[in-house]
Amino acid sequence: MNNHPFLRFINLVAFDQKIKSLENEKIALDHQIAATRKQEDEYARNLQEARDRVLSSQKKVDAQELEMKSLDQKEKEKKRHLENLTDYKNYQGIKAEIEGIQHQQVEQEKIVLDAWSQLEHAQQALQKKQQDNVQQLSELHERMKELGQKYAALDDECARLIAQHAEMEADIPTEWLEKYTLMRARVSDPVVEIFHQSCGVCSQMITTQDMVRARHGALIQCQTCYRLLYAPEIKEKHTS
Ligand SMILES: [Zn+2]
Repeated sequence: MNNHPFLRFINLVAFDQKIKSLENEKIALDHQIAATRKQEDEYARNLQEARDRVLSSQKKVDAQELEMKSLDQKEKEKKRHLENLTDYKNYQGIKAEIEGIQHQQVEQEKIVLDAWSQLEHAQQALQKKQQDNVQQLSELHERMKELGQKYAALDDECARLIAQHAEMEADIPTEWLEKYTLMRARVSDPVVEIFHQSCGVCSQMITTQDMVRARHGALIQCQTCYRLLYAPEIKEKHTS
């Protein structure tokens, strides 16, 4: 490792950016994991809804069949009544009642058939959902596993880098570290190269005097945005 403070400092900045980018990747993965969980919940909810529809359709069928049975029963009773009747006047009345019941039976038959058809549809929909769900869940779990592994690897890498941080800071002037720490809390690019004698971010001109210092390896602070600036040729000088 190069022991020149300037290069150590530039290395530290790059090192911290690496940690920052790993942490951002972790956040992005966290979002993906949350979205995958949400998707899993949605599949479960859809399946439950399909099950509920079958249950409620079954209840409708049962209720309508019960109604049908009660009409059949009524018809039977009226017919029995009719058979034992001698009075013609009553006979016509009961016959009309039976016809009324028979009319209701025809209508009820339609209602029962309709309820059965709805139940069959609900059962088919549930079956299809259950089949799809097996495939969807297996894909989802595979993805969840992958994301979890990626996250764990990133986490390890972050921890490994953070553990090296103190070592990376060694031999760097305290004044630089203090200014850097302050700026780092405020912006994502606290240290930038000087570009055409100006701050590489906000383009604030740098005084001739500061340019001379920068060319000798000093770290300059931008008067406008307070970022730490360095002359790129210094980096080249120390690395070559
Ligand atoms: Zn600036």
